Amino acid sequence: MPLSPPPLAPAVQSYLASRPWAARWLEWLAGRHYRLVVFPDRARPVVVVAHRGRSPARAEQVARAIERDWAETPARCREAYKDVLELAPGLIVVQLRRKNVCGCLGHRHMIVKEIPFAEPHDAFGGASVGEMDIAFDRVEGWLALPLTDTALDTQFIAGSRRKEFHDQQLRFRLLSVLLHETHHMVSPQASEDVVRERSLTFYREALAHYVENARATLSFTIDRSFSRLGKE
Ligand SMILES: [Zn+2]
Repeated sequence: MPLSPPPLAPAVQSYLASRPWAARWLEWLAGRHYRLVVFPDRARPVVVVAHRGRSPARAEQVARAIERDWAETPARCREAYKDVLELAPGLIVVQLRRKNVCGCLGHRHMIVKEIPFAEPHDAFGGASVGEMDIAFDRVEGWLALPLTDTALDTQFIAGSRRKEFHDQQLRFRLLSVLLHETHHMVSPQASEDVVRERSLTFYREALAHYVENARATLSFTIDRSFSRLGKE
């Protein structure tokens, strides 16, 4: 019986902790932090959110999107990315930035620049490494689907769950940018239109499903402002 490889995430975690103190000290000086995340329904890819320690809340939003929100999306949303995640590098480094000079939401990188992941290591168990960046502030301000986003916003605008709605919307956007760039990684020849269509469909359907559920639960709560708007 072939031995199954040890789980990648704990192996990478202990590799990061066991590196020479000088390397970790330089990282500490640079304020570099790594948050390892896995999708709840698959062992790979392991996503390494590389971020500045100053903004742990942003890294946590990305982590929560992968660890929790992914499972809350309709099955067809997850199904649509099955092949992409299957073919994705075992390790995906996400450099989480506030902004990009070019103003894009994210890019895939041709080479891995994040130092601990730039060279192959035994701890990776032969897994390949891919890297991308995501510009958090840009994703936050992005109107992915201008009409839908605005229409939904007016429904939640007076409701007590508006903040919750905005956070959820942001996490679905982060997830769709991550999936979009991963799609580019596994199919470099796919056109931008094809890649964008799939990631926007994911976002649209995930959000619609969330709103449907929110409506269903809100009808049982005393949230007059929301109910009034919902019935108009
Ligand atoms: Zn693209």
